[in-house]
Amino acid sequence: MATYTVKLLAKQPVAQGTTAFHLEKPAGFEFRPGQAFEVILPGGAEGEDGSHAFSIVAAPHEAELVFATRMRDSKYKRALAALEPGVSLQIDGPFGSLTLHKKVERAAVLIAGGIGITPFMSMLRNAAEQRSEQALVLLYSNRRPEDTAFLAELQALAQRNPHMRLLATMTDMAHSQQTWDGATGYIDSAFVQRAIAGLTDPIFYVSGPPALVEAMRGTLVAAGVDEDDVRSEEFFGY
Ligand SMILES: Cc1cc2nc3c(=O)[nH]c(=O)nc-3n(C[C@H](O)[C@H](O)[C@H](O)COP(=O)(O)OP(=O)(O)OC[C@H]3O[C@@H](n4cnc5c(N)ncnc54)[C@H](O)[C@@H]3O)c2cc1C
Repeated sequence: MATYTVKLLAKQPVAQGTTAFHLEKPAGFEFRPGQAFEVILPGGAEGEDGSHAFSIVAAPHEAELVFATRMRDSKYKRALAALEPGVSLQIDGPFGSLTLHKKVERAAVLIAGGIGITPFMSMLRNAAEQRSEQALVLLYSNRRPEDTAFLAELQALAQRNPHMRLLATMTDMAHSQQTWDGATGYIDSAFVQRAIAGLTDPIFYVSGPPALVEAMRGTLVAAGVDEDDVRSEEFFGY
C-alpha cells in the first residue's frame, strides 16, 4: 500500500443519492478487480471523518480510478460533496482480498445489496474486457430502479458477455416512479437456488452493508451452500 496525491476529475450521479467520483490514476498504481483504497479528504486527517475506504469501481485497464458512494448526511460525505473537479486529494492503497478465484471453471455468484455493487463493477468490466469464459452470475438487490447504481451499464455488460447473467430485483416498487418488469422481492434461498441451477461448483461473493452480508451468509447456508465457498466485504458505516 502507498499514498498518492491525485486530482478529482469529475463527479457523476449514477443513481438517486449515489455519486461516482473519477480520479486521476497514478503511474504504477496496480490493483486487482474487487480491491479498495482509502480516500483521504483534502486537509483530512486519518480516521473516520477524514478518510473512508471505498471499493474501486473502475477495472484495471481503465485510464481513471473511480469510486461510488451514497451521499448521506455525514461529516465526511458533506465534505466529499463539496469537492470540485480539479481539487487534489490523497488515496491510500490498494488493499483487500475480495478478488475473484483463479479457477475459471468454477462459476462465480456475485451478490450485491445496493451500494455493495461497487467491487463487482470492476470484476464484470474486467471480465468483459478480458473476454473471460468464467460463468458470472450477479444477483443485485435494490429498493427501486431509481436507486440502482450502474443498472443500464450492467444490462449492457450482460448483453455483451455471453458468460454473464444479471438477476436484478427490486424490493420497494410501491414507492417507485419508474416501471420495472424484472424480479421483485428479497433475495431468499429460493431465489439463490434458481440463480445457481446448472452452475459448476460456484463460489459466492457477497458485498454491502454488514447486516445484509450477515443475513445473506445465513440464506446461502440455508440454501445448502458450504460456508467455505462464501467470501464477503462488509461496508462498515452503513
Ligand atoms: C473494504 C471497504 C470497502 C468499502 N467500499 C465502499 C464503497 O464502494 N462505497 C461506499 O459507499 N462505502 C464503502 N465502504 C463503506 C465506507 O467506508 C463508509 O463507511 C460508508 O460509505 C459510510 O460512510 P458515511 O460517511 O456515510 O458514514 P459515517 O458517518 O462514516 O459512519 C456512519 C456510522 O458508522 C460507524 N462506522 C463507520 N465506519 C465504521 C467501521 N469501520 N466500523 C464500525 N463502525 C463504523 C460510524 O461510527 C457512524 O456511526 C467500504 C468499506 C470498506 C471497509
